[in-house]
Amino acid sequence: MKTDPTCVFCKIAADQMPATIVDRRPWAIAIRDINPQAPDHVLIFPTEHIPSLADCEDGTLLGDMMLLAKEIARKVHVDHGGYRVVVNIGKHGGQTVDHLHLHVLGGRRMQWPPG
Ligand code: AMP
Ligand code: ZN
Repeated sequence: MKTDPTCVFCKIAADQMPATIVDRRPWAIAIRDINPQAPDHVLIFPTEHIPSLADCEDGTLLGDMMLLAKEIARKVHVDHGGYRVVVNIGKHGGQTVDHLHLHVLGGRRMQWPPG
């Protein structure tokens, strides 16, 4: 499995950096975002270092991440009110951490289009 010792999400997955863990699987981890953009803002990322969605061909992993997003939404109680799942890709997509991740945002009404 690929990891990057300079990557913040790899460090969190390896328990080398603190994080508020919401859920954990052998293949993925869900943590609270350090700079939340909604009352509930959870990040889901694979334990393997995959830089972005553009680098991922593993449909099973991507499907499992989406299913985990639904589970996390239930776990943090935003499933009834509704929530948003976001993937930022690259510079124009607003990606700042180059390790594939989903954002699960809830607890408030979202705007459209996103900024
Ligand atoms: P993105 O802009 O899509 O790459 O999202 C990266 C997210 O990671 C941002 O929302 C950051 O606030 C969040 N983030 C960065 N470092 C940490 C950290 N150490 N713990 C939790 N969230 C983080
Ligand atoms: Zn990484």
